[in-house]
Amino acid sequence: MSEATQHFDVAVVGGGPAGLAAATAVADAGARVALIAPRPSVDDWRTTALLGGSVEFLERHGVWSELGAVAAPLRRMRLVDASGRLFRAPDVTFEAREIGRELFGYNVANGPLVAALSDAVAARADRIVRFEALFKTLGHGGEAALLGLSSGETVSAALVIAADGRKSALREAVGIDVRTWGYPQEALVLTLSHSQPHHDTSIEFHTEAGPFTLVPNGPGRSSLVWMDRPDVIERASALDDAALGLEIERRCGSALGVITVDSPRQRWPISGFQARRLASGRVVLVGEAAHGFPPIGAQGFNLTLRDIERVRDIVRDAMRSSTGKRLDGETAARTYGKARRLDVFGRVTGVDFLNRSLLSDFMPMQLARATGLTLAREVRPVRRLLMRVGLGGR
Ligand SMILES: Cc1cc2nc3c(=O)[nH]c(=O)nc-3n(C[C@H](O)[C@H](O)[C@H](O)COP(=O)(O)OP(=O)(O)OC[C@H]3O[C@@H](n4cnc5c(N)ncnc54)[C@H](O)[C@@H]3O)c2cc1C
Repeated sequence: MSEATQHFDVAVVGGGPAGLAAATAVADAGARVALIAPRPSVDDWRTTALLGGSVEFLERHGVWSELGAVAAPLRRMRLVDASGRLFRAPDVTFEAREIGRELFGYNVANGPLVAALSDAVAARADRIVRFEALFKTLGHGGEAALLGLSSGETVSAALVIAADGRKSALREAVGIDVRTWGYPQEALVLTLSHSQPHHDTSIEFHTEAGPFTLVPNGPGRSSLVWMDRPDVIERASALDDAALGLEIERRCGSALGVITVDSPRQRWPISGFQARRLASGRVVLVGEAAHGFPPIGAQGFNLTLRDIERVRDIVRDAMRSSTGKRLDGETAARTYGKARRLDVFGRVTGVDFLNRSLLSDFMPMQLARATGLTLAREVRPVRRLLMRVGLGGR
């Protein structure tokens, strides 16, 4: 190990929402952290619906105080079958109060979310050192991993958290394979204002080409995630604001009155993938380095925060039992890999099934979907169970 190498308990690679949240959480668990994260180069116009325990997680780490004022409460979720299928499902409305909660959570724009997480990292300058560089190489140095950076620096750490997104270079360096699959879909994302109130209700219109989802984003405002065939998304994103507003209004049956598009549009590819292992050696995978799936039911970042909660708790326990010694990163990584397997597999598989059940022309599949939603509408315990699972319960 060279003289210039700096040693840390934990290194986090990636400065997206997952990396920033992970660095903050493990620093609060008592670790000295290296965050290897170049500054983001593109604006992200998406919003994130933070459900169930995600808001509590952000509160516990002091991030919520900055976000509360710009977050839109989510009280109800309405599913509308807008397909022309033979077996159509009834409309279903899920109410948070039916499971004893005032709210399902809050919708927050990714810009303020990343800014609040970056501020949390900066506020922990005594425990987090940020390297504005890319991770390049992975080596081994005794009881630590050695990370070579694009700046020429080397960082050593007992445990390494890969939060470097879907094309994770760290995942590849540690030799973890990924199972990937595609969908005939793309997503168009934008924010809009509307003349009718949303009543803190998100509406998911299910079409044969995917969900068309409007999520409250402040009074008289919502964010749109429109999943459809790539040619439809291409045509829609080429429309001017007035024509696009009319098209959105038509597609949601004027549920929110007159629509005015008031943000840039972004197109996101839709695919699914899951790392075949969630840990190897001293490296653990979190967020989109570990899993990715279509934005249905707002599961992605909520699952990521559960990854991070688990790694934080493992680091906290390991730091307590390793006083004076180095953190045992290999044991911590092994524990994490086992602990997260079921939740990650369940979400990836569940969202894949939901998306395919919309796209499928197979009659029994359509019948199963319609039956499931009829049960959700008519049978209270089924509806409650679905809500609890949606919020992260098993
Ligand atoms: C349209 C859409 C809507 C969504 N809506 C929701 C929602 O409502 N609720 C929800 O829970 N989830 C939602 N998601 C999912 C959520 O946005 C993602 O889970 C989340 O943004 C992924 O964050 P991440 O930090 O894991 O990855 P990324 O945001 O991709 O961050 C990875 C970071 O790693 C950095 N990086 C890459 N390579 C390196 C390297 N070699 N060295 C150092 N750094 C590197 C990159 O610069 C980047 O900053 C949505 C996703 C989409 C596509």
